[in-house]
Formats: sequence, structure tokens, C-alpha cells
Amino acid sequence: MPLVHYSRRSRRAPAHVAHILIDHRLAKPSWHCLASQHGYRYFGRDPKIRAQVYLRCLSCDGVMAVHTHVLRTARPECTSCYLRAMAREATAAGLEFLRPCPHDSHRGIYRASCGHEVSRQRVFVQKIGAGKVALRCETCLENRNAAEARKHGWILLGAPSNGDPNYRRYLHHGCSHQQDITVGNMLSGRFACHSCSEGWLSDTSYIYLDYFELPDGAGEFVKVGMSRRPEARLRHQFDLADGVHAEVLEKIRFDTGAKALRAEKQIHKTLRDAHPEWVVSAEELDWIGVTSEIYRIEALPRIRKLFADLRARTEA
Ligand SMILES: [Zn+2]
Ligand SMILES: [Zn+2]
Ligand SMILES: [Zn+2]
Repeated sequence: MPLVHYSRRSRRAPAHVAHILIDHRLAKPSWHCLASQHGYRYFGRDPKIRAQVYLRCLSCDGVMAVHTHVLRTARPECTSCYLRAMAREATAAGLEFLRPCPHDSHRGIYRASCGHEVSRQRVFVQKIGAGKVALRCETCLENRNAAEARKHGWILLGAPSNGDPNYRRYLHHGCSHQQDITVGNMLSGRFACHSCSEGWLSDTSYIYLDYFELPDGAGEFVKVGMSRRPEARLRHQFDLADGVHAEVLEKIRFDTGAKALRAEKQIHKTLRDAHPEWVVSAEELDWIGVTSEIYRIEALPRIRKLFADLRARTEA
């Protein structure tokens, strides 16, 4: 019996049982009774810590420090059983459980099959095990982002100066200019070096509303974006999983990419600010090769309205 665990919410690391002072005699009769009601055996207490007892879990044999108030008023949850369950779920998800997250008791640190460490919510790992979602390793993704940037003649430097998680800082190989560019734009090539090209900013462009339906009723989503050719972008640039139905629902024409970009950014900001719960997180996006700009289907009526307003303004 090597380790004594503390409550999951405690930041204290497990301690070796030999390193703590445990007096097995100082027990109130009620402690024995309460412990056995909750699936534990009273193990002892540290005479110097008044309001704490040590309990031994009857199912895993682990020892846990519990506040006497918790023992009296609630069912103490065995930390060691909890960690074992996380490890089991990790194995089922093809991951190796390394340790709990020190800042969030519902999150763990895992080793992915690629060898990198990833931090995920426990429920997310359960979903992976159930085959509902797939794990995307951020380190591998960043390596792919760097490879993608090299194809376009840019070097991925790291975090952006604007602090937006959709952006990265890149260096243009030809002219050594540094610029923040979204990962999505780097993938599609729809950006221009501010130092050495005019590019798409002066071309006719569209903002579009795309609709996606996942197979087997797994969900419906919409995407707002801008492109010079929305249909081509939908067909060739999204790297959709098999069986995903996709169509362009609407598009609005702008005579320059710069105007389209401004309108697109405004729509994203309006949606994010009013309904952050509509924004689909990058972690969930295992069926499309983009990491942002996807919304839950509940957003559709609001986006239709935003498009109608925008159309009225631009075509007036
Ligand atoms: Zn246990
Ligand atoms: Zn990886
Ligand atoms: Zn350049």
C-alpha cells in the first residue's frame, strides 16, 4: 500500500504512506460506522491534523485523506479509484494516462499514439473510447501547419502577435516579412504578403454560408467564410470526411477581397459575442480540415438574417 491520495480537488500530490504519521487508534466510533457506509474502512488519523481522517477504499485498497466534515455530510469519492477509471478509459481510447491535470480535476494528461503529450477533458476521452470523436494531437497539427506553410514559401514562427488562437506568426521566405495569418488561410493560400504582393485583396470575392450534414445523424453544422470561389473551396479545400453532405447555401459578392474580409470578420464577431455556445471548438472538428468558423445548426436562422441584412446594405 504505497500511496495516500488526497481529494481530487486538492493540489496535493499523493504521499508515501511511510512518510505520514498515522495513528490507527484515535478513532471515534462514528467514523468506523460512516466509513463502512461509504465503502471504506477507517484507517487512522494524524494526531496533529484534527479535522482529517485516513480511509482505506474497500474496492481498490487505496488510502485517502478525507476531511471529517466530508465524511459526515457526503460520500467521499476514492481518488485512487477515480484515477484508475481515467487510466482504463484512456486505454479504451488508445491513449496512455500519465497524470491528472494539476489545475482541473476533470482533465488528464495523456500520451497519444504519436508519442506526444496531450491534455484533454475526461469526458472527451470517454467520447474517443466510444468512437464518437477522434483525437487530434496539437503538436502533430502544428507540425503539419509548419509543413503546409513551407509549401507556400512561409516559415511558421509560433504564436501570433495579435493573441488570436486562430492565427500564427509566419515569416515570408522570399522577403523576410513577418505577418500574422490564420491557419485556415495558410492552408488555402487565401492571403497575401503585405510586403511583397497585392494578391487577392483586390479581386472579386464572396462571403459564403455552407451547410454540412454528418452521416448517421451525427450532426448538422454551418460555416461562414470568404473565398474567391466558394463552390471550388467547398469541393476541394475542406478535406471532408467520407459521407459528409456539403452545400453552399448562400453567397454575397464583393468587388474586392478586402471588403469581403471585413464583412466576414464582422459576422464572426457578432456570432461569437452573442452566442459563444454556437461556436464549434477545434477539438470537435474531426470531420473537416479547418479548425474554426464552424457553428452549430442552431446558428442558422441568425446567420440567414445577418446575410439578408448584409445583402440589403451591399446591394442597395
Ligand atoms: Zn478506491
Ligand atoms: Zn502528436
Ligand atoms: Zn513577402
